[in-house]
Amino acid sequence: MVKKERFKKDAFFSKMSRLGLALSYDDVRLKTGHSEVEPAAVNLLTKFSRQVSLNNPIVSSPMDTVTESDMAIEMAKLGGLGIIHRALPPKEQSQAVAKVKFYLNGLIKKPICINQDEKVGDVLKTREEKGYKFHTFPVLDVHGKFVGLVTQNDFEFCINQNLKVGDIMSADLKCENDGTSVKEAFDIMRKNKKKVLPLLDQEKKLVGMYVFSDVKRIMTGSSAQYNIDANGNLRVGAAVGVGEEALERVELLVKKNIDVFVIDTAHGDSERVIKTLKKIKKLYPHIDVVVGNVSEGHSAKRLVDAGADGVKVGQGPGSICTTRIIAGIGHPQVSAVYECSKAIRGSGVPVCADGGIKYSGDITIAIGAGADSVMLGNMLAGTKETPGDIVMVQGVPYKNYRGMGSLGAMEKSKASRDRYLQTGSGKDKLVPEGVEGIVPFKGPVSHIIDQNLGGLRSGMGYVGAANIKELQLKADFHHISGAGLSESHPHGVIITKEAPNYKT
Ligand code: 5GP
Repeated sequence: MVKKERFKKDAFFSKMSRLGLALSYDDVRLKTGHSEVEPAAVNLLTKFSRQVSLNNPIVSSPMDTVTESDMAIEMAKLGGLGIIHRALPPKEQSQAVAKVKFYLNGLIKKPICINQDEKVGDVLKTREEKGYKFHTFPVLDVHGKFVGLVTQNDFEFCINQNLKVGDIMSADLKCENDGTSVKEAFDIMRKNKKKVLPLLDQEKKLVGMYVFSDVKRIMTGSSAQYNIDANGNLRVGAAVGVGEEALERVELLVKKNIDVFVIDTAHGDSERVIKTLKKIKKLYPHIDVVVGNVSEGHSAKRLVDAGADGVKVGQGPGSICTTRIIAGIGHPQVSAVYECSKAIRGSGVPVCADGGIKYSGDITIAIGAGADSVMLGNMLAGTKETPGDIVMVQGVPYKNYRGMGSLGAMEKSKASRDRYLQTGSGKDKLVPEGVEGIVPFKGPVSHIIDQNLGGLRSGMGYVGAANIKELQLKADFHHISGAGLSESHPHGVIITKEAPNYKT
């Protein structure tokens, strides 16, 4: 019999619910517990969706002032994930995805091949003309079957350039089947001391190739934390909307080996979203689809029942968001995350807490409340990797940050109007649900991620949670008052030196 998991926080939230209270980040703090956990030793491995894992729980938001390819590359290199926004036209969005996918040479899917009857001199001439930096070429016969490899050694030891490639190639090779992962390739190449590993299908046709120097870089040293797919390429997600336009995007993105789609809408529990989800899952059942945003338990459950592989929670907590004020709806974020994750417990579908995170402690709270990952907009805005230029205001550097439902974003892109269901109205009648602004320039995003993960690790140490699952199970909360909140922030002091992780 499977033992039912006991979540410490259930009693707290059911009491709050009996009192009619829904809570947000500033309303709660986590209780400390007896701990044997060293913050430096905690395991931050988690999931964004059923199949897409993360080496840390931070995902960058699909906003036009936050995530394009530069941010997505950096996020995946740091172990998290970036979701490319959908205000980009479909083709540009898929090109941004391709940039992330090709950043590392994991599996080379279409290596440049040569024919066994070509002359060595001709191959070297072509190499020079085309500016290829590499010397390793798979060799094919006239039927396109793989027959061998030529490497730098073969070229160097060849003194007669009139010889044919077939005369100098090495045919005694270790080959593997299609589908060999970068991890398996690393082990096989080390064991067999092979610098190149061709992958062949059943008809001996070449379907890919690993090169040891690339594979080693991906699997060891500073690259070990990279968030990579089975082929050794960086992981990346892309936002799509609903209806035909979404399907057009999806088709282009599949060709670029996208890891996860995010149906990115302001109201995830709507018929058009569910229909689009079902269509995408029918066409591409092997690719994960995360759906959002919702903030009620029954909505999260409906999305999971319809086939969602991840649920994004947050209606109105965002720093640039005015939905709660303009439309009057919403659910304070900590209670929303708790209710949604509780409603889908046991389904294996992860929850992403999207919006409203101001400090690293909020990340610990979001995960304690039930999230598997968090999505950040404001915290990452203003970093070097965000789109857009630095603007100087009275000598101080800033970058733009705006809501996707702001007037500026909606005027610029149909996708932003779609997100807030404003396709019908003329541009002069748009009703924004977000604002436009600037945030200080923050330098490289890696500094922000380091500080946030440091804060999360520290919080896990206080709770006594060695990993994300334990944090979800052991987390329990205090409901704090306004006095508790002001006691929590620095007080009675004029701050003379800014801390890298704290700003008022
Ligand atoms: P932040 O991290 O800035 O607090 O929140 C970012 C999140 O706010 C995004 O991931 C997205 O879910 C949400 N968001 C982005 N733009 C808008 C907007 O214009 N209006 C609303 N309601 N939410 C937005």
